[in-house]
Amino acid sequence: MTAKILDGAALARELRTEIAKAASELTAKGHQPGLAVVLVGEDPASQVYVRNKVSACEQAGFYSEMHRLPANTSEAALLELVTTLNHRDNIHGILVQLPLPAHINSHKVIETIAAEKDVDGFHISNAGLLMTGQPLFRPCTPYGVMKLLEKTGISLRGAEAVVIGASNIVGKPQAMLLLQSGATVTVCNSKTKDLASHCKRADILVVAVGRPNMITGDMIKPGAVVIDVGINRLPDGKLCGDVDFNSASEVAGWITPVPGGVGPMTITMLLQNTLEAVQRTL
Ligand code: NAD
Repeated sequence: MTAKILDGAALARELRTEIAKAASELTAKGHQPGLAVVLVGEDPASQVYVRNKVSACEQAGFYSEMHRLPANTSEAALLELVTTLNHRDNIHGILVQLPLPAHINSHKVIETIAAEKDVDGFHISNAGLLMTGQPLFRPCTPYGVMKLLEKTGISLRGAEAVVIGASNIVGKPQAMLLLQSGATVTVCNSKTKDLASHCKRADILVVAVGRPNMITGDMIKPGAVVIDVGINRLPDGKLCGDVDFNSASEVAGWITPVPGGVGPMTITMLLQNTLEAVQRTL
């Protein structure tokens, strides 16, 4: 193996220690950071995600509250809860776990969250602010990826960055953040022809598709930084990313493992965004 490991778990620990210190200083002044997490329905993966988010809040000394609503909750009832949370002074961040049941319009729910409490950064005005280079909240996963890239010490100015995947929560905001850092950015999606030729040009390769081991070592430029956002569960129960770690780590300069790469950074940046939300109210 030639690649250096970009250890997201270690960086997340480092950042969470700083976040906890800032939170304790704010709490001492009567401004304890507060996050409300809303889960509708019983989706097992979502239950794990929200549990992890709430427990990360507790460990960092944040106030957190969890609203578990049944799957048949009406859209009106959910909007009413979000509106109530918007008006609560001790709640600085509101997170509605996606996906929502099919009868609820998730765009409408996200647009109802006050933009200054939208710690996921999915509200249309936060997407617009990010697009125009004046971000309020950076979506947590791409924000975490930027922190990991910082850790390599590699300059992004003029670098060829290729993002594979163009979702609203990962690929698109990731491309915007890389662009704002001075990289030349290509975004690939399911219709992209000859994916390998794009990958091979990349100094920075961010993969966020959700297909196990789709990027192999022969598709990677020697020395590239490879960030694997994908989380896939294999039939044997093990987790793997979108990048074939064994072959890619023979070619890349830096690589994130799965698990232990991007995943721990995502929740850390949720804490960071909640902290930033409090600081803006002071
Ligand atoms: P998504 O399904 O919303 O988007 C997938 C994107 O990949 C789409 O834009 C699609 O066009 C593109 N795509 C599909 N097949 C492709 C192909 N063959 N070539 C190129 N592009 C292709 O997924 P998402 O929500 O962006 O998540 C992507 C992956 O990242 C999933 O595995 C998800 O579990 C993971 N994820 C991880 C974290 C984390 O914290 N580590 C956070 C969010 C998502």
